[in-house]
Amino acid sequence: MKRMVVIGGGIGGISAVYELRDRLGKNHEILLVSDSDQFEFTPSNPWVAVKWRKPEAITIDLAPVMKKHGVAFKHDAVSRVVPEQNRVELASGETLDYDYLVIATGPRLAFNEIEGLGPEGHTVSVCKTAHALESSKDFEALCADPGPVVIGAAQGASCYGPAYEYAFILETELRKRKIRDRVPMTFVTPEPYIGHLGLDGVGDTKGLLESELRNRHVKWLTNTRIDRVEAGRMHVTTVNEDGSDKASQALEFKHSMILPAFTGVDAVMGIDQLVNPRGFVIVDEFQRNPTWPNVYGVGVCVAIPPVGPTPLPVGVPKTGYMIESMVTATVENIALAVEGREPAHRATWNAFCLADFGDRGVAFIALPQIPPRNTNWASSGKWVHLAKVAFEKYYLRKVRKGTTEPYYEKVALKLMGAAKLRAEA
Ligand SMILES: Cc1cc2nc3c(=O)[nH]c(=O)nc-3n(C[C@H](O)[C@H](O)[C@H](O)COP(=O)(O)OP(=O)(O)OC[C@H]3O[C@@H](n4cnc5c(N)ncnc54)[C@H](O)[C@@H]3O)c2cc1C
Repeated sequence: MKRMVVIGGGIGGISAVYELRDRLGKNHEILLVSDSDQFEFTPSNPWVAVKWRKPEAITIDLAPVMKKHGVAFKHDAVSRVVPEQNRVELASGETLDYDYLVIATGPRLAFNEIEGLGPEGHTVSVCKTAHALESSKDFEALCADPGPVVIGAAQGASCYGPAYEYAFILETELRKRKIRDRVPMTFVTPEPYIGHLGLDGVGDTKGLLESELRNRHVKWLTNTRIDRVEAGRMHVTTVNEDGSDKASQALEFKHSMILPAFTGVDAVMGIDQLVNPRGFVIVDEFQRNPTWPNVYGVGVCVAIPPVGPTPLPVGVPKTGYMIESMVTATVENIALAVEGREPAHRATWNAFCLADFGDRGVAFIALPQIPPRNTNWASSGKWVHLAKVAFEKYYLRKVRKGTTEPYYEKVALKLMGAAKLRAEA
């Protein structure tokens, strides 16, 4: 009997334990360790921030669900991975030995890299459900006393979709409350152009997102870095093509949500050969770490180089479609390794995203994620909002039921087609 330890109870970790259980059966021990006792459906966090969802509607208690589906669960934080000893150390002081380790810890949110950024500073966040709940209080304060809003992403960020989503969702809610006319909005991003998304655009995301920002009277600043934030004021600098400073200014705000840059988590940070200098797990084409091949990485914690040079650092997003594909490759390769065979499965690393704008949205598919691509498709409409609502429901059901269907790839694509037809009917 082998022991597979999976760290992290998010989209990557949950998919991994279910697929491992299905693929390897009861002859092996599958253990999930997560520092949170809940699964949270991160894509719905922006809805929590404007009170369209309560946190309990998008979170699931892990202990009973794991028990029901035959996965051992430990609610504890991994404080250190010790790959040379096939061991992880836990915050409680306990240690766990493993035969195979899957790291699915997601990111550390690097608010600390910019003075005054983040929930402990002066901007709010939707990266965690708890952050989004806090953010909703700041949003209510804005509604009570309307004023300027600044939304966007910090230099080095690798997750842009949710920044655009939050801007449009907030804008929709402000219109519903009939106070949009009292809220000037600015979108700030290190992307070289609107709709780059860390992917050098997909289809016409540039045109689609620029047009949406224009239609909704949201001003934007691209190639822009955030220098520091103080209460109600953000100091930003727009740079030239060569990265040199072009113009600095201070943006006043009453409410600001900025997606931070990510790093790897402390449990792996600085482990030579396991992670890169930013703490992201180094994996080969089979999702294995080249130095310790019984250690695999899936999801946001994995190191992926940027698609190309940009004046400011712009990271590549790791979205659900890609994460599920990394998980399937990992599980198939672990199954081969258990049989003493060589790995053969590669993740497809495609990007698929439904970006909700509150009343409509933009969907895009990039196959493969890095251009040039075989499929480079983006489309917009009310059907995307409907598809995203349905997708949330199906994904939460998947986690509760313990199914291993690759939802992002199969269900989502079907859903998109159906929703599109419905909207066009
Ligand atoms: C606001 C937001 C919206 C997004 N929307 C979409 C979307 O619509 N579509 C899409 O495809 N992608 C979306 N993404 C991108 C991506 O799909 C999500 O970030 C997804 O949650 C990543 O899954 P993950 O498993 O890699 O990491 P996470 O979901 O972050 O899960 C990591 C887990 O590991 C745990 N953990 C961390 N450190 C430790 C430790 N030391 N010990 C134990 N446990 C630990 C964490 O508590 C967490 O439970 C979004 C991202 C964000 C931030």
